[in-house]
Amino acid sequence: MNRIKHYVASLLFLFGAMAMAQEGEAKKEREPGHYNQSRFKQMYEEFATPNTYRSASGAPGPDYYQQQADYVMNVELDDKNAKLYGEETITYHNNSPDNLEFLWVQLDQNVRAKDSKSPLRDGNGVNIAYTAGNFAETYISEPFDGGFNIEWVKDASGKPLSYTINQTMMRVNIPQALKSGEKISFSIKWWYNIPDHTVNRARSGYEYFPKDGNRAYVIAQFFPRMAVYSDVEGWQNHQFWGNGEFALPFGNYDVSITVPADHILDGTGVLQNREDVFSKEMMKRYKEATKSYDKPVIIVTQEEVEALEKGFATDKKTWKFKATNVRDYAFASSRKFIWDMQAVKIGGKDVMAVSMYPKEGNPLWEDMSTKAVVQTLQTYSAHTFDYPYHKAISVHAKNQGMEYPMICWNYGRPNEDGTYSDRVKYGMISVIIHEVGHNFFPMIVNSDERQWGWMDEGLDTFMQYLAEQDFGKTYPNIIAPNEKYPSQRGEPAAIVPYMSGDQSFISPIMSNPENVYQLGPNAYAKPATGLNILRETIMGKELFDHAFKTYAQRWMFKHPTPEDFFRTMEDASAVDLDWFWRAWFYTTDYVDIGVKGVKKYYVASKPTKEMEKYMADRNLTEADLPPLVYLAEEESEDFMPELKGKSPTETSKNLKEFMMDNMTEAERSQVKEPKYFYEITFDKPGGVPMPLIVEYTYADGSKENVTYPPEIWRKNDAEVKRVIASQKELVGIAVDPKMETADIDTTNNSWPKKDEKSDFDKFKENIKGEK
Ligand SMILES: [Zn+2]
Repeated sequence: MNRIKHYVASLLFLFGAMAMAQEGEAKKEREPGHYNQSRFKQMYEEFATPNTYRSASGAPGPDYYQQQADYVMNVELDDKNAKLYGEETITYHNNSPDNLEFLWVQLDQNVRAKDSKSPLRDGNGVNIAYTAGNFAETYISEPFDGGFNIEWVKDASGKPLSYTINQTMMRVNIPQALKSGEKISFSIKWWYNIPDHTVNRARSGYEYFPKDGNRAYVIAQFFPRMAVYSDVEGWQNHQFWGNGEFALPFGNYDVSITVPADHILDGTGVLQNREDVFSKEMMKRYKEATKSYDKPVIIVTQEEVEALEKGFATDKKTWKFKATNVRDYAFASSRKFIWDMQAVKIGGKDVMAVSMYPKEGNPLWEDMSTKAVVQTLQTYSAHTFDYPYHKAISVHAKNQGMEYPMICWNYGRPNEDGTYSDRVKYGMISVIIHEVGHNFFPMIVNSDERQWGWMDEGLDTFMQYLAEQDFGKTYPNIIAPNEKYPSQRGEPAAIVPYMSGDQSFISPIMSNPENVYQLGPNAYAKPATGLNILRETIMGKELFDHAFKTYAQRWMFKHPTPEDFFRTMEDASAVDLDWFWRAWFYTTDYVDIGVKGVKKYYVASKPTKEMEKYMADRNLTEADLPPLVYLAEEESEDFMPELKGKSPTETSKNLKEFMMDNMTEAERSQVKEPKYFYEITFDKPGGVPMPLIVEYTYADGSKENVTYPPEIWRKNDAEVKRVIASQKELVGIAVDPKMETADIDTTNNSWPKKDEKSDFDKFKENIKGEK
């Protein structure tokens, strides 16, 4: 026992000293500051300190609160003049511990006011090209006057309330502070000119169809909405500039929408007067749809819509809705809407999957929209919580991809003759999955989009990837047999062009959406890919899925922050991911890991030159040391060709004796002595740590896959060495052979070096081939 202990201790000392020397060398080779042990430091400095509102576990704390805003609204659409009028009563519940001296209300349409500052803050110069509509709007026509016209703001007794408008925010100056635990009701009358959303990518508005003279409206951000007041921001009253989306409190809505009598309309909430607004035929079909779990039932047919399009009714109809616990309200209305519905069981409850589309969307929309809605509800519910609302509507609107509670707008328009490319088909399915998926993030897991675009876009895009892959399995006839759904975002290799791009145009994910150059890759693709890598490679599906679901369930119908997400993922999995959040979310570093070199060793019969020097420096002889085993490098001056190919016990007397003394004969007979010893140096030119995924190939063609944890880089961020002892000759090494880590340069991923196209080039070709 003693002997072994002594032996081990000396070796530890020896090799410890040698390893430290190597580390020092590596340190010198790196650029200043690149060698960075703090990559594995905990995120104490970056994260907000946990408190009684938000716990260190990532769960809501015992004092967590959120405000509530309830709305009663009467809205009227003037289709002839494309104007929207409304009167609303807001009841605002102050559940915070603070007394509020004033209230902030959001006037998002003011981003389209004539005097909006939004267009003035761009410093980009001339575009290489403009859409015709955008060019006309920017350089030819009068600016569109799309801001809110506030007619009055009144208190509950009808007395005017003073207010101050600062761009897209309105401060309501209440006479006395609204005390903690109290509520206040006040009313606003407003109207605005509805924009043509096809002109400059407004998130809502109308599309005009010159052939039949109709408009299709998709209406959102259409009413003055309460801002969020929270423990994190106080009032979240950052201006709406156009990119940073929305921050909204939950509440209950009672909404009456008056439109031309021949319009087909759907919106957030439970329709209260179906019998008044539906024809008998529609009622019959609707009842059928509520029992149809395998395919949609058409409620309003294309034929009926073609007749409606010619009507231009002058009488009106009012559609009445109630919605409980939603953070927003939106609706779509037109004579042009074909309407289909299908029931889907989610957690034992029936949800209606709904699609509305003009005939210009067919045949694609009739064939696929509702299928995509159903898939989204199923996949997302399985990974988060059961979809809690009673319906999810996908509305077809040209060039749109925008989400609201229970309803969203989606692009994907066939050619006029009804034909369509795969790009249009997959684009349409993907956008429907994405926008319906936003019901989960941020409509229910209600993050602050104004500040953190990635919290809804990134999580949603990650879930979109899973739902797309599920869609491919559910509908092999749509995707083509044996093929995967061609997801644009989610696969690690697909993020490489972005992460390897010009650093001056890349921002960390943890940036405000207004301040980044490439919002798509920044807030959508990179966080989604990161989560995918966590799930597939770093944490594994079981740990990831449980943690992700824990986050969704902890924060459903609440307002989470990034830390709540980061902390929950660790809290529920026991995987320390601070290094990952730090590298992937807080920096613009990329992944590049390679194999730098391989040295071959064999067991030598006497001390190597290096060992002799070690002993001489310390005045030691072999007799002063425990019995040692020496490994000599094949390329070095120690090389003794006569020993090559012999087994270690044949060449090392010490090893042979050790085994004789410490092992029984039976044990010795079981021993398989390695003949080949390799020291492999892996290097890491990229800043992001990742698991070191290695495939070793041996002379007999067999392969061995080893994944070293990311912590292998914790002490040396530049390079690490591994020793392989094998009975078989090692003939090949591949790092990250399945492209799981978004490694930006695969030319250094193999040994011996391959002089051929990189895997990434192959991946790119593949993507093109799939179109
Ligand atoms: Zn989105």
